Amino acid sequence: MSRDATNRDTTPAKDTTPAKDTTTSSSGPVRGRRARSRAIDWDALRLAAREVCARAYAPYSHFSVGAAALADDGRILTGCNVENAAYGVVLCAECGVVSQLHATGGGSLIALAYVGAEGQPLTPCGRCRQLLWEQGGPGLQLDTADGIKTMAELLPYAFDVDDLGTPPPTKARRSRT
Ligand SMILES: [Zn+2]
Repeated sequence: MSRDATNRDTTPAKDTTPAKDTTTSSSGPVRGRRARSRAIDWDALRLAAREVCARAYAPYSHFSVGAAALADDGRILTGCNVENAAYGVVLCAECGVVSQLHATGGGSLIALAYVGAEGQPLTPCGRCRQLLWEQGGPGLQLDTADGIKTMAELLPYAFDVDDLGTPPPTKARRSRT
């Protein structure tokens, strides 16, 4: 399968979509965290997602996926799916992104591109939407086949730390040393 498909670049308008504050969105409960205003290099994220997709371990489904996310300090974090002979314990690509976010210093996710082997944009599964909500909040932007969407759009009425009724965890950035 070619990994050089460029068909998804036929909608360049979304490439320059600026980050927007969605804290007043009516598409779901929006609490606490705020999206930061930052220009997002979607082409770089898509390229990184495609590159890591080539390293996916998907011997059972042969459905490779790669994800690349931009952190609030500019880091680009990547992950690929990792399957297992016990099918139910598959790791989605977003798991790698979230792990790398914390392994390299913490912070929050701003934007994420998620692609299949042909470079086609995918949307995260339900479980990963919950994972991403925790790490990016309602303003996290995702590249989809229908353009840039926020987590608030992809996971309305999300379960959030506020639902626990306890103080939120400290999200202070950790040293990368
Ligand atoms: Zn998933």
